[in-house]
Amino acid sequence: MPDVTTKHRRVKIVPPEELTGLELDKPSNAAAGITGVTVAMKHIAEETGMWKGLKILSKLNQRHGIDCPGCAWPEPNHRSAVAEYCENGAKAIAEEATEKKCDIGFFAEHSVEEMSFWSDYKIGKSGRVTHPMYLPKGASYYEPISWEKAYQIIADELKSCSTPDEAVFYTSGRTSNEAAFLYQLFVRLFGTNNLPDCSNMCHESSGVGLGETIGIGKGTVTVDDIYNAEVILVVGQNPGTNHPRMLSALQKCKENGGKVIHINPLPETGTTKFVNPQSPLDVLKGGVKIADYFLQVKIAGDIPLFKILLHYILEEEKKHPGAVVDQTFITEQTLGYDDFISEIAQLDIPKALEACGVEHSLLKEVATLLSANKKIITCWAMGITQQKHAVNTIREIVNMHLLRGAVGIPGAGLCPVRGHSNVQGDRTMGIYEKPKSEFLDSLDKVYQFSSPRHHGYDVVETIEAMHEGKVKVFMAMGGNFISATPDSEFTGKAVQNVGLTVQVSTKLNRAHLVTGEHALILPCLGRTELDLQKSGEQFVTVENSMGVVHTSRGNVKPADHHLKSEPAIVSELADVVFGNKFNIAWKEMRDNYDLIRNEIEKVIPGFDDFNKRVRQPDGFYLPNGPRNGKFTTSSGKALFTVNPMPQFSVPKDHLVMMTIRSHDQYNTTIYGLDDRYRGIKNERRVVLMNRQDMHHFGFREKELVNIVSDQDGTSRVASHFHVIPFDIPKGSCATYFPETNCLVPLSSVADRSKTPMSKYIIVRLEKL
Ligand code: SF4
Repeated sequence: MPDVTTKHRRVKIVPPEELTGLELDKPSNAAAGITGVTVAMKHIAEETGMWKGLKILSKLNQRHGIDCPGCAWPEPNHRSAVAEYCENGAKAIAEEATEKKCDIGFFAEHSVEEMSFWSDYKIGKSGRVTHPMYLPKGASYYEPISWEKAYQIIADELKSCSTPDEAVFYTSGRTSNEAAFLYQLFVRLFGTNNLPDCSNMCHESSGVGLGETIGIGKGTVTVDDIYNAEVILVVGQNPGTNHPRMLSALQKCKENGGKVIHINPLPETGTTKFVNPQSPLDVLKGGVKIADYFLQVKIAGDIPLFKILLHYILEEEKKHPGAVVDQTFITEQTLGYDDFISEIAQLDIPKALEACGVEHSLLKEVATLLSANKKIITCWAMGITQQKHAVNTIREIVNMHLLRGAVGIPGAGLCPVRGHSNVQGDRTMGIYEKPKSEFLDSLDKVYQFSSPRHHGYDVVETIEAMHEGKVKVFMAMGGNFISATPDSEFTGKAVQNVGLTVQVSTKLNRAHLVTGEHALILPCLGRTELDLQKSGEQFVTVENSMGVVHTSRGNVKPADHHLKSEPAIVSELADVVFGNKFNIAWKEMRDNYDLIRNEIEKVIPGFDDFNKRVRQPDGFYLPNGPRNGKFTTSSGKALFTVNPMPQFSVPKDHLVMMTIRSHDQYNTTIYGLDDRYRGIKNERRVVLMNRQDMHHFGFREKELVNIVSDQDGTSRVASHFHVIPFDIPKGSCATYFPETNCLVPLSSVADRSKTPMSKYIIVRLEKL
């Protein structure tokens, strides 16, 4: 079995090919509603018990409450006193605060080999890890270890590195600002910038595309802007599942007269109809229509689509000179306009139409709408960022906003919607393998050392370095590296080349089973849990998609008294590794997080008076020049760009596959086996196909196939998937990750951002 490695122990790298009994139903015709509430409460009852669950939910996303460990959608100014969370937020809480435990007895009973043959769903449902656990070299069972011994093992391995670059420190987007700041400081004092993070696999393309054109790698809008926009484009995003409270904001926008345009290969229930469970009228009416327009674009057809829209917006300008294109804004605030319009003016429309697959008349209609309204917001997610031409697609979106002057004014702007609650905050704290020199200068000045200046490894480079045996120590702050990354078999074998792997985690996942020669699990507190340190109860801070920094504090007893907070783990480890070499008060910072925030204030611009301002009920906004019409590029102007039309060639009898989430998952965490919105029940090994393609290939509904991707001289196989007819453009198909991450070649990355191309994999389907 190619996906079973035996280097140190015999473990399965990818989820087993077990089928769970597929049932098909009609896709839901509306998102959320009473069903959403009942499903959420079922998860709460099963995992935490109603009493504890309701206690947590009463504080979820409330002022001075618990920040949801799900996505990074912001809190509205007027929060619902009843429930300021969505179904998937409740599921995230249920998972984290589950009463199930992976304690010493659990690990004594189940070997790493045995558990690696469990599905990711079963592994995740095993519960919270309660003790520091160690997997010695050559052993198959984790055994308990003291925190002190665990830190010493890490310190010894780090000291055995011949260069600091033999150690890599990964971060998942749930890590708080305080833990992230201490972590990057620890890593840079150790001497490396090897700080890959989950951003590398999700919005890196947004950071690069926006950074190049407007000078900041973040969105420029607030939640109020969403309410007051005239037109909102939702591109390559499925908010109904991945940012569900966004639906309430889109509903508000519509109530204020705004229009919503959904651009995506798949029609999604959430952008079709939304039943706000907190509105009895909505429930009675059966919900409100969200998208006024659905543009079913082909996979990777976004650049031709936006070029066509830009072309017709310019046509509208010709018909109504001065009414559409904001010349004053363009002259005063931008560069590159002339090259841009001459390229768009010569656009080969028929070719572009063929490439995007959307009806001509519909595009013209949308272009007219965009020409008639200035308060335009474009929201996007992985459907854009995980493609080869992701950065150029984002640059075309920026072109449209600059052409209309729709950035830096109320109700308008750019909105990459982050999928992880603090992924943006971690980057702000310095979790980045390519740190800016200003940031390193500030660190050097405050801590009197010379920080490493050469860039570190991103996620893909980390896997390549592991493969080449260049990584001795791999430490992960949260996350599930082995399941979240591409090319699973290659990655799994690469991870096994590492000497020591260390996972700071709340729950068991596959990264605890596919490890280095020896491995540690350091169990940490979750967001829902009280964090008591010497100076008393602590809170942490996070930054949401809109750049608001606010607090999060837990309200329930930790799952076990052996757990430590992330800041405590990093500061105690640093204390063991460095002692008083750098004269940094690690333990004092552990005991009182206000001291960490004081350090953040010294190093990072925008955090003045941090401890005072973050205690305000709604926290505070970080500076964002483009939000206020001040572009922070080197020229101080926004850039129009000319982006080549992508060329794709798909071999005969092949399809373009994209990986997606079901409604019962959050990243690699599997809450359940249903995908209610798409009418799929009790099965994850499914491939969604266009009916004509099924007919062409002679596939029946539910027929089992193997999915194969051939690249770099290797055939990667994902076995036993049921074919399901679905409303998806001809020539493309969709499957869930992480089950098909094994089909994404490591070399398949987006230009310039190097984000794995999980939304564009060329595959062929084999009948069994
Ligand atoms: S929208 Fe996102 S942040 Fe809000 S409750 Fe749902 S999962 Fe959590």
